[in-house]
Amino acid sequence: MSMWNNLNTKMFSTYVCLGEDEIDDEFLNKAGVKRKKKAEENVLAPITCARCHYLNAAGMAFCGKCGWALTDEAIASVESASSAI
Ligand SMILES: [Zn+2]
Repeated sequence: MSMWNNLNTKMFSTYVCLGEDEIDDEFLNKAGVKRKKKAEENVLAPITCARCHYLNAAGMAFCGKCGWALTDEAIASVESASSAI
């Protein structure tokens, strides 16, 4: 039992040396959990068309029903294309 106590003490001191964010990442990695980044969540989320409210699949740049630009990139491309004409 004393061997396990020593091991735990060493692990604890290792965590103390790390910053708070690093502790969380280390803990989640060892627990097999990976943090989801906000950008990834946005990509996976369905996109509701602002014009016709059609629910588009994740990753769509334009509405599948009315063709409205759904992402900032698509909107920018449409605006740059229309301003070029
Ligand atoms: Zn639409």
